[in-house]
Amino acid sequence: MNRKMVILGGGESGIGSAVLAAKIGEEVFLSDSGMIKKPYMDILHQNGIESEQGCHTMERILEASEIIKSPGIPDQSPVVLAARDKGIPVIGEIEYAGRYATGTKICITGSNGKTTTTKLIFHMLKKAGINACLAGNVGNSFAMQVARGDFSHYVIELSSFQLDNICEFKPDIAILLNITPDHLDRYEYNFQNYINSKFRITRNLTPADAFIYCSDDENITRELSGMDLNTGFYPFSLQKIKGDGAWIGNNILNVRYLNNQMHMTLEELSLKGKHNAYNSMAAAIAGHVLKIRKEIIRESLADFQGVEHRLEPVLRVHGIDFINDSKATNVNSTWYALESMRQKTVWIVGGIDKGNNYADLANLVREKVKAIVCLGKDNSRIHSAFSDVVAVIIDTESMQDAVKTAYRLAKNGDAVLLSPACASFDLFENYEDRGRQFKEQVRHL
Ligand code: ADP
Repeated sequence: MNRKMVILGGGESGIGSAVLAAKIGEEVFLSDSGMIKKPYMDILHQNGIESEQGCHTMERILEASEIIKSPGIPDQSPVVLAARDKGIPVIGEIEYAGRYATGTKICITGSNGKTTTTKLIFHMLKKAGINACLAGNVGNSFAMQVARGDFSHYVIELSSFQLDNICEFKPDIAILLNITPDHLDRYEYNFQNYINSKFRITRNLTPADAFIYCSDDENITRELSGMDLNTGFYPFSLQKIKGDGAWIGNNILNVRYLNNQMHMTLEELSLKGKHNAYNSMAAAIAGHVLKIRKEIIRESLADFQGVEHRLEPVLRVHGIDFINDSKATNVNSTWYALESMRQKTVWIVGGIDKGNNYADLANLVREKVKAIVCLGKDNSRIHSAFSDVVAVIIDTESMQDAVKTAYRLAKNGDAVLLSPACASFDLFENYEDRGRQFKEQVRHL
């Protein structure tokens, strides 16, 4: 007899799960308490999947053999609590899709750098002629990709919310880039809860699998030292490491893997800055574990085009370089952006501050920033953090104003960097909208 699968949430992951479940031949019902977007509704209709929107019909939901909930629905929501109360298993989309994915799973998590590293590895696999797909937080959901076809490799970006709902899911290669405080509102303001969530990526690894991680990250190494994990360990670091893994020495990226060595200068890497050196090292190790030829790994690291809104070079106008790092929505990613600047910089910063500790940026700002342009409704915390550090701090409330002001303050040979360290919702729809408006205004100069 077919099982009754109930999917909660009609976003990317819910629709993917519904399509996969229907393809497998399960009886599927999707319920969303909000409205389902038209393109998703069309997919449900095309696949003959029953759904409801604007409510949760509890009687129907509680008939489920198993429930798949989207990562946006908290564990404490009434519908999830009611299901658990009745003993109905509630799982996530990654857990479900993982049961049916036969290919190699390369999973990437961390507080920052996930999308960049995921796309870089995907680029490498395509170049190697592998039938790979992107999945998870980038583009299509993992479940949709599994429903679509027989990929031999899945490169999956995983958020902590997605990891919270896995149980038996096992990556073949797990990558943990870094852990810095983020999303603490979802983790009872307890950083350890968030660390535990990120470490769930390792929970089912076996000695035949690979765990690639940043050994310069104290939160990662502290956690690892108290764990009993039996798998292949491949650290990456800016210091020389013992054993297999990757490191930087004398401006050269080195990889050592089972008596194989690869070397490449930092100059040759297409992605610049320390943070990207980490991302490139993680990708290079993954390439070795997957037995991709060294020339292909090297070529991929050298010609990767980067990802929009992540330290994206926009234009040079009268000798001033404009750089779009709109995706930097926390202090840590902005730290790396400032660190990578080689010119005197006019820094556009601000938005909705999620409790930022700007003191972490003070030294870099002193060294690199000649003027600050605040772009947000409330810039008081930026003023108080930097008024003793930078002489010129100017408030603006539109992208046009911010770009024009920055252009006026910069000189030939300087850079203008949009790296807000804040969320964008006060003045923009999202970080993509903010980045696009920045580029548009730069092109109008
Ligand atoms: P995520 O998908 O984890 O949000 P992205 O690749 O989209 O990560 O990058 C988000 C921001 O973090 C960008 O501003 C980017 O320049 C910065 N960043 C990228 N990689 C790292 C890293 N390894 N450490 C810190 N910051 C990074």
